[in-house]
Amino acid sequence: MANPSLLILPGDGIGPEVMAEVKRVIGWLGEKRGLAFDVSEDAVGGAAYEKYGVPLDDSTMAKAQAVDAVLLGAVGGPKYDTLDFALKPERGLLRLRKEMDLYANLRPAQCFDALADFSSLKRDVVAGLDILIVRELTSGVYFGEPRGIFTEGGERVGINTQRYTESQIERVARSAFELARKRAKKVTSVEKANVMESGILWREVVTRIRDAEYPDIELGHMYADNCAMQLVRAPKQFDVILTDNLFGDILSDCAAMLTGSLGMLPSASLGAPMANGRPKAMYEPVHGSAPDIAGQGKANPIATILSFAMALRYSYDLGDEATRIETAIEKVLADGVRTADLMGPEGGTPVTTSGMGDAILAA
Ligand code: ATP
Ligand code: MG
Repeated sequence: MANPSLLILPGDGIGPEVMAEVKRVIGWLGEKRGLAFDVSEDAVGGAAYEKYGVPLDDSTMAKAQAVDAVLLGAVGGPKYDTLDFALKPERGLLRLRKEMDLYANLRPAQCFDALADFSSLKRDVVAGLDILIVRELTSGVYFGEPRGIFTEGGERVGINTQRYTESQIERVARSAFELARKRAKKVTSVEKANVMESGILWREVVTRIRDAEYPDIELGHMYADNCAMQLVRAPKQFDVILTDNLFGDILSDCAAMLTGSLGMLPSASLGAPMANGRPKAMYEPVHGSAPDIAGQGKANPIATILSFAMALRYSYDLGDEATRIETAIEKVLADGVRTADLMGPEGGTPVTTSGMGDAILAA
């Protein structure tokens, strides 16, 4: 059987710096665990503009469609601010998401014990927290027609339409149930069926998919406003939260702040199952290209390493290896190793990007 394939797109700013540490982890897996990956690398964003004259070349797009998973660093930077809209680095990222049809966006919120005091909430509310938000990414109010600013009866009216078809709900629901099977087997589906027809359909379809295909998964329903409150009050009650594009946007940012620094947060975007049964997938840190610290060896590589761990779990069926990496990160943090973004009021000397990589590999 061919080795699992990975396309690495380091991108701009701190992207290449944090990606260098992931490459060391991949090297380690090959050397110590006998796990070989077919790794290829290409440019995206500003780096692609410089190499190809466009933020994502067709040849790169074709590679992304062919591999088991894509791992992306970050795109953008002040250098590219004056480019035409179509050439902006962000367009490269959007093209990948759109053409790969990545409809399920996964944002885990996991609280490492050593960083529990970074949370805006009390330590005991968040210590040990491990939840996963699955946000529908390609439909809903961000795309529904009609949309626009129109004139009606002598004044302007701004219109957006929340629109979900049954098949759009079905496919993201299946993603959430599949993910829950590898976790605590509990899904909370979030909408506002009390005031929105799309919410009524959402609830009905999610329930039908669970009953027919995932009877082993516990399913609960919650209104979005209550979910926001519960995330802040008692977030550990959740395992997987399944929700639409707009509610997911808001709730995932809320959940992110339960756990602390931007430099710690991974994400995945999944599409339809491929021939091997695993979803089309792209993994990336939640943070951006951080031009203010680029080139200084200050960037925290953990978000990108955790994104690769998600790839191990969801694209390569190597959940044990993902756990190995997460456990190493937990240990390093418990030992007090910190990049500059994780320095608390107690002070100390931060490690560099590669210093953090050293510590994780040693652990
Ligand atoms: P984008 O629009 O691309 O999402 P952004 O404006 O949200 O970018 P980021 O690039 O994510 O901004 O950076 C926000 C702040 O967080 C910056 O001060 C940056 O230095 C810091 N930051 C982001 N990622 C990291 C990281 N991996 N390690 C340390 N600091 C980071
Ligand atoms: Mg941002």
